[in-house]
Amino acid sequence: MGAAATGSAAERLRARLAPLSDLARVLQLLEYDQETAMPRSGAAARAQQSATISGLLHEGMIHPEIAELLDAAEDEGVDGDDAALVREVRREADKARRVPTDLVREMSMASSAGQDGWARARDDDDFAAFLPFLRHNLELRRQYAACFEVDEPYDALLDDFEPGMRAAEVRAVFGPLRDKLPALIASAGERSPGVPTGPFALGGQRRAVELLLARVGFDRESWLLGESVHPFCVTPGRGDNRMTTRFSESSLESILSCLHEFGHALYEAQIDPALDRTPLGMGVSMSVHESQSRLWEVFVGGSIAFWRGAWPDVREALGSSVQGWGDQPESFVRALMSVQPSLIRVDADPVTYPMHIVLRFELEQAMLAGDLALEDLPGAWNDGMRDLLGVTVPDDRRGVLQDVHWSIGAFGYFPTYALGTLLAAQIWEAARAGLPDLDAQLEAGDLAPLRGWLAEHVHSHGRRLTPREVIRAATGRDLDAGPYLAYARSRAEGSLGQ
Ligand code: ZN
Repeated sequence: MGAAATGSAAERLRARLAPLSDLARVLQLLEYDQETAMPRSGAAARAQQSATISGLLHEGMIHPEIAELLDAAEDEGVDGDDAALVREVRREADKARRVPTDLVREMSMASSAGQDGWARARDDDDFAAFLPFLRHNLELRRQYAACFEVDEPYDALLDDFEPGMRAAEVRAVFGPLRDKLPALIASAGERSPGVPTGPFALGGQRRAVELLLARVGFDRESWLLGESVHPFCVTPGRGDNRMTTRFSESSLESILSCLHEFGHALYEAQIDPALDRTPLGMGVSMSVHESQSRLWEVFVGGSIAFWRGAWPDVREALGSSVQGWGDQPESFVRALMSVQPSLIRVDADPVTYPMHIVLRFELEQAMLAGDLALEDLPGAWNDGMRDLLGVTVPDDRRGVLQDVHWSIGAFGYFPTYALGTLLAAQIWEAARAGLPDLDAQLEAGDLAPLRGWLAEHVHSHGRRLTPREVIRAATGRDLDAGPYLAYARSRAEGSLGQ
């Protein structure tokens, strides 16, 4: 790393960090290739390559020279982006230093073993087979949390996904949801027509997805769309935005899924280029990231104005399977956005979705505190699904074994999904206030003003600001459930809540 030995400490720190940023981007490229193109027989070699790069990244971050440069930069005095850089790198480095390397290695191994054990247990619908992996992961996360000085162990786990947020704040935000959502779900469900049922020809769906993505701002010069089992996106570099979707003849999930991933990818694409090749040049937290995907999926994808413009071409592309919806988009959009309590989180509509998360958050806290014996987890899950959503769980495969997160030890991740949905409503409210002609622009397919508003108020900051500061900058206040509950209330009253 032939970094300049001269210049300010902040400049030398940047030079030292730039190759690490490159390695992190290469890792994303490997992931994209693995999920979209790699033959299955390449898995072992790819795992080795990814582990090598991860190891280089970790070694690079804990290198003594980074600590020395941080100290020197603070001694010299830094401001602006340099101050933000020092703040972020010190935070990461301090966290990394607190955790013994042996524990890091053990968590990584338990994560791989757990994912494998979970996949088999889920296929066999056998929770007892998953139990030892869950127990081991939980014990390791307890040890991990004990490395930090926090009010409660959950705070240490949450902080890895949502820097600076505490479990008590999540409880304060989720409380009103638990109280108010069940009644709203019941009313909205009664007024929903049910999701469109296929079959929908795959060729037509591919064409529809292309039309919608072109409409929101996907340009072929710098964007790439692939297909994968689980949709995701990566940004291997400036001007290289990649996302995937998946197609099934039995549903139109490809449509909302592509808008979701577009929102994630647009966030990364619109970060200030001045932050490239630094740890500041990425999305600020999981919940802010999820707010950007949900904004496009739920609020653009659920906008009648948007669909008025898009519907003629999309209807033609989808062909005979959607002709019955008529030449106006209203009934189609109502069906697409139907509210219906269901078993599976990833298929849930935006009104029932947060209840899936409230349940997981409550169970995680109980497991971590030792208030819930792990043998009793499936029963607690099934009771929760009945209480919160009114559905009966037929088997663990469609119940407690449905998500990968606990198998890889990712306790504390789930809340960010619901917080992202809530934040999407709050940011959408602010964007509407800032763009008085938004409906006309959505209908005309002129999405540049919305993209520009998001760039200015959310995306460009990268990690220059903290998550809390980004939320305040965009909406003028801290995260609260109010705008989301207003959306859910309007759905309960039969409107689409725009
Ligand atoms: Zn997402």
